[in-house]
Amino acid sequence: MSLQLEPVIGLEIHVQLKTKTKMFCSCDNRGENLPPNTAICPICLAHPGTLPWPNEQAVRFAVLLGSALGAQLDPVLRFDRKHYFYPDLPKGYQISQFDHPTCSGGSFTFEVPGTNVPRNSATVRIERAHLEEDAAKSFHGTAGETLVDFNRAGTPLIETVTHPDFKTPFEARCFLQELRLLVRTLGISEGDMEKGHLRCDANISMRPVGDENLYAKTEIKNLNSFRSVERALEFEIKRQSELWEAGTPPTLTTTRGWDDANQKTTEQRSKEGLKDYRFFPEPDLPFCDISAIIAEERRHLPELPHAKRARFQAEYGFTAPDARQFVEHESLAEYAENVMSEFLAWVRSELPETSEEEFKPRAAKLVSGWLLSKYLGALSEMGREFSRDIITPENFAELLTLLYRTKINSTTAQTVLKKMIETGADPSHILEDEKLTGADEQSIDLWIAEVIAANPAQVAEFKAGKFSLLQFFLGQVMKKSRGTADPETTAEKIKDALE
Ligand code: ZN
Ligand code: MN
Repeated sequence: MSLQLEPVIGLEIHVQLKTKTKMFCSCDNRGENLPPNTAICPICLAHPGTLPWPNEQAVRFAVLLGSALGAQLDPVLRFDRKHYFYPDLPKGYQISQFDHPTCSGGSFTFEVPGTNVPRNSATVRIERAHLEEDAAKSFHGTAGETLVDFNRAGTPLIETVTHPDFKTPFEARCFLQELRLLVRTLGISEGDMEKGHLRCDANISMRPVGDENLYAKTEIKNLNSFRSVERALEFEIKRQSELWEAGTPPTLTTTRGWDDANQKTTEQRSKEGLKDYRFFPEPDLPFCDISAIIAEERRHLPELPHAKRARFQAEYGFTAPDARQFVEHESLAEYAENVMSEFLAWVRSELPETSEEEFKPRAAKLVSGWLLSKYLGALSEMGREFSRDIITPENFAELLTLLYRTKINSTTAQTVLKKMIETGADPSHILEDEKLTGADEQSIDLWIAEVIAANPAQVAEFKAGKFSLLQFFLGQVMKKSRGTADPETTAEKIKDALE
């Protein structure tokens, strides 16, 4: 008989803030791009007699994140010392926030795509988010030597701790992806996991289904990709389940490291308890009233990703997966909105009799189809990244109006699109230059005559009343023109010729 177990998963995420300077000194915060030990000063090297002072921008970023998470914000900024010894921690303690974090509580809702998942939308409670400084970076050489780069020492971090509310490793991954989008939207971090801008530790324990107790957990470190978070948690579920089934569930909280090469976790050490850190208030940083900053930043909160996705569906009629894809990249979302409003403005002025309900779904379909699949597809074929400067939204909307009015067909539009990417020119100029449009009247008349001559049976049927054959003739003529004839006027000409 096998035990029915469920995982209990929580995350701790460190986000590196993209401030100009470090957390407690004026050193350059882009030290990761500079030669080792060049972005340093006596403060971040912890020389005796130096004093830290807090970075206002970092505090503003913490307030922004806390507001986005619906957290309670502490109007008094205070820091504590967290003591531990490590060669990359020159002070022998880290300045962090202990019992009065800037953000407490709150929650974060994210989507969990797929059909084989317990829920498609999950809300995870946030325990806290606090400000702290990063340690320096150690490099372990092949000859056993360790080198330390202090450029990273004192870099501002915000650490977010969730409640153990995740039901599956996949949910943990989806949460992190949405959190990355959030910090990018807020403009507080690059959020690049591979570069360590977003670092995640995952806590996991197992328990029998129906049991509300929390058991000894494992804390997994060194998770530097979304995939490794998911894999490491899956590995731990298997490992801990086997211990439960053998009647020997884990009894001690331990730290394990994720070994990506071998796809397994290995035990590192037993975890220190909170008491081991000897937290006490940082005497070098007086309390600071930040209520004015809180009020100001709350007003600066941009539209959050979930709200934008909902609006893209409601306002423009995009499908949920399309809205998702647009909102994933801020510049793409902005571009889509610009194209859409150009396009809508064009319809309102050129085709005022068209009803919005009729037009909008068609426009949404054209925009998402041509932007997400055709345009992005063509860019990736050409080995280029999307940027709003390649084709202006006005020119892109113009291409769509040509398609909408069936002035050009899809094949021609794709040729024009490629030229637009290459030259940045507007579609009508490309059509003229490339002789893709304006097949002359004489040629069209000639092609119509040819088609009529080649299909006597269909001509007879048309004359006998099967008018749907007009599409067949039009198709033949369009083919001869290689898409350059204007379908509307050509159809009229065919009708005239057949009467
Ligand atoms: Zn410094
Ligand atoms: Mn931390």
